Amino acid sequence: ILRIRGLHKRFGDHDVLRGIDLDVQPGDRVAILGASGSGKSTLLRCLNFMEMPTAGRLEFQGRPIGKAASDGAVRYTQAELAQVRRQVGMVFQQFNLFPHMTVLGNVMEAPVTVRGLPVAAAREKALHELDKVGMAHKADAYPGHLSGGQQQRVAIARALAMEPEVLLFDEPTSSLDPELVGEVLTVIRDLAQEGRTMLLVTHELGFAYHYASKVLFLADGAFYETGTPDEVLKNPRKAQTQRFLERFT
Ligand code: ATP
Ligand code: MG
Repeated sequence: ILRIRGLHKRFGDHDVLRGIDLDVQPGDRVAILGASGSGKSTLLRCLNFMEMPTAGRLEFQGRPIGKAASDGAVRYTQAELAQVRRQVGMVFQQFNLFPHMTVLGNVMEAPVTVRGLPVAAAREKALHELDKVGMAHKADAYPGHLSGGQQQRVAIARALAMEPEVLLFDEPTSSLDPELVGEVLTVIRDLAQEGRTMLLVTHELGFAYHYASKVLFLADGAFYETGTPDEVLKNPRKAQTQRFLERFT
């Protein structure tokens, strides 16, 4: 569903991503690990063009996104960027809900404004997705009145309401109090078991071990070690992966 070749991202003279290759098949659950500052968020943001890649090729559902100009730079049309952004949903560490909108308003917003769904249909869709994450009873509440775990579940419902083909999770439980992590992981686990395609940046190694179909360790701007959860998390071959994992055990 996603094919990435030679993805580079540079900020000023800082080469954050230096040639990322990645294939994601439908139903894949890809866990991405890496030290702070290794470029995990930047990678996810490039995948839905919240951040524009400096170089590299990206195919989504078999279609190349963007055209390489004669100078080698890739140019994108607004229409194709809009389409990718719509079909690649993102859940952030800090939830990023609109504070002045109710829970229901947050979940309905993009389906109405971006997908052009009639309000009644968007409301029905939103309530359905809120029910899936166990938050329908808070539809009329404002985000500020919810716990972090509840806000993150609403953020997941908001992403689902766009019917994305791929879900990107950027450390969805990192800003939660420990006792709230479980309720969010349960929702993500359910989505994994439904066969959703997802990329998950996380430090929850136990979760990654049980639910990821592949694990990628990002270091020095590229995938330094990749494989099954057993290969990367239990039997890492490379020294830097081993050192990283030791910090979490
Ligand atoms: P963390 O685990 O702390 O979330 P990360 O792996 O997600 O880290 P990124 O946020 O992707 O790392 O950042 C990678 C590098 O790129 C960092 O050195 C960061 O300072 C830099 N960077 C990220 N975004 C920008 C930006 N918009 N402008 C300049 N530098 C940036
Ligand atoms: Mg990050």
